[in-house]
Amino acid sequence: MIIQNKEKYIKLFEEIASKKEWEKDSLNKILRKYKDYNGKILRNDELVEVYEELVRSNYLQEKKIIQERIRLRPTRSNSGVTVVTVLTKPFPCPGKCIYCPNDVCMPKSYISSEPGAQRALASKFDPYAQVYNRLIALKNIGHNIEKVELIILGGTWSVYPLDYKLWFVNQCYCALNDISKDTKEYVEPRDNGFEKTTWEDLEKNQRKNETAYCRNVGLVFETRPDYISEREVIEMRKFGATKVQIGIQSLSDKILEMNHIGRSVDSAKNAFSLLRRAGFKIHGHWMPNLYGSTVKDDISDFKKLFGKDFCPDELKIYPTSVIPNTELASLYREGLHIPYSEKELVEVLSKTIPLTPRYCRLSRIIRDIPSSEIEAGNKKTNLRQIVEQELERRRIKVNDIRSREIKGESIEWKGVVLEKLEYKTSVSDEIFISYKTKKTDRICGFLRLSIPKKDLIANNFIEELNNGSIIREVHVYGKVVGIEEESNGESQHLGLGKSLVNAAEEITKKRKLKKISVISAIGTRKYYEKLGYTKEELYMFKNI
Ligand code: SF4
Repeated sequence: MIIQNKEKYIKLFEEIASKKEWEKDSLNKILRKYKDYNGKILRNDELVEVYEELVRSNYLQEKKIIQERIRLRPTRSNSGVTVVTVLTKPFPCPGKCIYCPNDVCMPKSYISSEPGAQRALASKFDPYAQVYNRLIALKNIGHNIEKVELIILGGTWSVYPLDYKLWFVNQCYCALNDISKDTKEYVEPRDNGFEKTTWEDLEKNQRKNETAYCRNVGLVFETRPDYISEREVIEMRKFGATKVQIGIQSLSDKILEMNHIGRSVDSAKNAFSLLRRAGFKIHGHWMPNLYGSTVKDDISDFKKLFGKDFCPDELKIYPTSVIPNTELASLYREGLHIPYSEKELVEVLSKTIPLTPRYCRLSRIIRDIPSSEIEAGNKKTNLRQIVEQELERRRIKVNDIRSREIKGESIEWKGVVLEKLEYKTSVSDEIFISYKTKKTDRICGFLRLSIPKKDLIANNFIEELNNGSIIREVHVYGKVVGIEEESNGESQHLGLGKSLVNAAEEITKKRKLKKISVISAIGTRKYYEKLGYTKEELYMFKNI
């Protein structure tokens, strides 16, 4: 990795080593003095990465005392899964969205100073090094890395050449397969282009990953809705994908047009219906304060997100920022685009966030763009906190998944209750089955079951999904532990996953369907085998 400000960080580590009385908050106090140029405090994993790089490049002498002081004890991960983000190489995007950053070193829409983008750049966009080194950094600070969700970002995945995509995904699986329990060392990134990779190579490494130490429990691609076609959906499934992130941005054709997004609302409808019929989890991006929109328009636009044509499972809210060298920046300078004031933005978010249904997870309400890169618009990195405080003041409860997650709390089986929430989409009946705590409404685990509508049940474009229901997601919260470890009282061990799957099978039977399929990630195939599921072509299934 490339370290800017080496001298500053060398001083930081010297201070860590020389401090006589080392207390619980000593590290935080020191880190606060050495913020990066955006005023951001280094995260623990970033600190370990910087330390190891300085030692590796002989700028700093290895010291046991530093290692002890910067490493963490094994941590609990809220979602039970380690998430690794990987960026594809810079590549043109067919879109001309007026707000989209133009950083020539980056895939379209990313800025090289964003933390994840920095890591990708330092790894020369080598997918192997990105996955491998990130996992080693996390492992070295005590994270359990046995269950890994890979998020492949970089503008529009669907427009990259197939050869590149095959190589890229295969390299990600190779990196996962090459890490063992004892691996500690980092690898050097390679920048010599990509090698010819076949579907057979990929399948071989996918099979290897089924029993690897680092198993892939989720694979996510980011793309544009108008590039979602039946062929594209099948291809993503062959890569092992389980979730797709798509830019909805707005549900107004007028606003899409004004912002040169180059597609219609109908393209998003079509993408949602194809992805849902194929059992994918759908993670939407929505943008308030686009050029031409108003506070009132944004609030009513948000409501449409949960109409039958969309209903995202997860949502990122990205308030539009004005980034220099974009068309939006020119409009801003001409006085034609006026970003919301903080008060207006908080108003939009306070009115919309509470409308999020219980089945949806609001994963973000701000994009991680360093404030130094924003010409105008929101620069507050703690916007979520500000909105939450405002909602508390107004005594409004938020019911989305993220605000109800159990996190690391211990759970007693008798304090947990099963909840079934049914909602209709244009292509299915969706049943969101969850276990939640009786008293505090905390969610311990959930499953998304999709029952295709009558007129679609026998003519899915993926034949193996015909005449059955589809489990689109099973998620159990708790400490990150080995997938097959024994019970010790954490939610993951209470057999919640199995009970959720049983509940889905019961519902399927009641609907008089004889087959249930699951969009399993490569590393969860063994888990489903134990529950009686068999691999078909792209999915696992059980006759019931
Ligand atoms: S589609 Fe996405 S990456 Fe492409 S120009 Fe628009 S915002 Fe940027």
